[in-house]
Amino acid sequence: MLAKLRDREVSLKIAKKIKELSKNLDNIKIMNFCGTHEWTITHYGIRYLMPENVELIAGPGCPVCITPAHYVDATVKLAMEGVRVLTFGDSYRLMGSKRRGIPKSLEEAKERGADVEIVYGMLDAVKIAKDGKESAFFAVGFETTAPAVLSPLYSGEIPENMSLVVAHRLTPPIMRYVLEKFPGSPIRGVIAPGHVSTITGSSTWEFVAEDYGIPIAVSGFEPVDVLLSILEILRQIDRGEARLFNEYSRAVSYKGNGRALRIIESTTDVVDAAWRGIGFVPRSGLALKEELSEFDALRRYGIGEMVEWRDDSLPGCRCAEVTLGMAKPTDCPLFMRACTPERPYGPCMVSGEGTCLIWAKYGSSEFLRGLIGDL
Ligand code: SF4
Repeated sequence: MLAKLRDREVSLKIAKKIKELSKNLDNIKIMNFCGTHEWTITHYGIRYLMPENVELIAGPGCPVCITPAHYVDATVKLAMEGVRVLTFGDSYRLMGSKRRGIPKSLEEAKERGADVEIVYGMLDAVKIAKDGKESAFFAVGFETTAPAVLSPLYSGEIPENMSLVVAHRLTPPIMRYVLEKFPGSPIRGVIAPGHVSTITGSSTWEFVAEDYGIPIAVSGFEPVDVLLSILEILRQIDRGEARLFNEYSRAVSYKGNGRALRIIESTTDVVDAAWRGIGFVPRSGLALKEELSEFDALRRYGIGEMVEWRDDSLPGCRCAEVTLGMAKPTDCPLFMRACTPERPYGPCMVSGEGTCLIWAKYGSSEFLRGLIGDL
């Protein structure tokens, strides 16, 4: 199955169909929402299989890139005050506001002696916290990771000495924000995130077609998946249609995962939430329900949520524009100069789902063009 979905000949056949079809079309921009799709597109050189009038634009689907500096600063403060902080590998490296005198990341806090541990997930974190030490889990992610993080709260298996910094964000509201922020948006098609949709169901993306008249494809992550999704979007544009297409039906149902959705709904409320460098987006974040507020680390330790927007972009970094599809990493003067995978300056260079890191690792156009050759 996997071999077929990565097959070079099949990929080239679909790419030829895309090229044929695009001859009838004007300039088309398609946004791939998800960082993992950006990885597939860049790693496999799919951008270079596109005809000149079809452009693929990376979108906001990197949870680490959009996590406000406030949460990093807060977890660093907790760590420096003796609370053990547990988190994923990329949020461990994520930089906060880089204020003078305080560690810029959890990684730096650990170097200065704080108790910070990288874990694979919440279950690991719970196991570690069973030793009784005050511990906080820094939860960064979209709908995909939220159920696993919230599950011990749902089942009542979270130790009393443990709390959470919940920085979870929801994907449909930021897609709506992208489409509405720019009147006459040039985006003519959207590739929706497959992993998120395994939880939410494909139905969650129907609004893109219904409210904005834009074709939307929920896609798997192999090259053939992505090419089929692009072909379907172009077919719909060619026919003047706009509807939801579930290319990833082997993993995504229409309604989603009922138990996972129940866990999210029983433990959290949907709230207006800040996105790094962007601002508050209506109903785009999760906050623990009032009856679970004792497990909210920001409340427990008197730090407080972000209530007012303060731009947390780092000087010179264009990560927010990259996230919104308004700039490419190569438009940033710091790309591969002051900001590299080894020494990331901005958040889009930290995570494997960050567009800048993906382009830095796999985006050498000449190299890929050489591999693919002319169609
Ligand atoms: S290359 Fe670095 S500094 Fe530039 S936008 Fe990307 S993350 Fe920000």
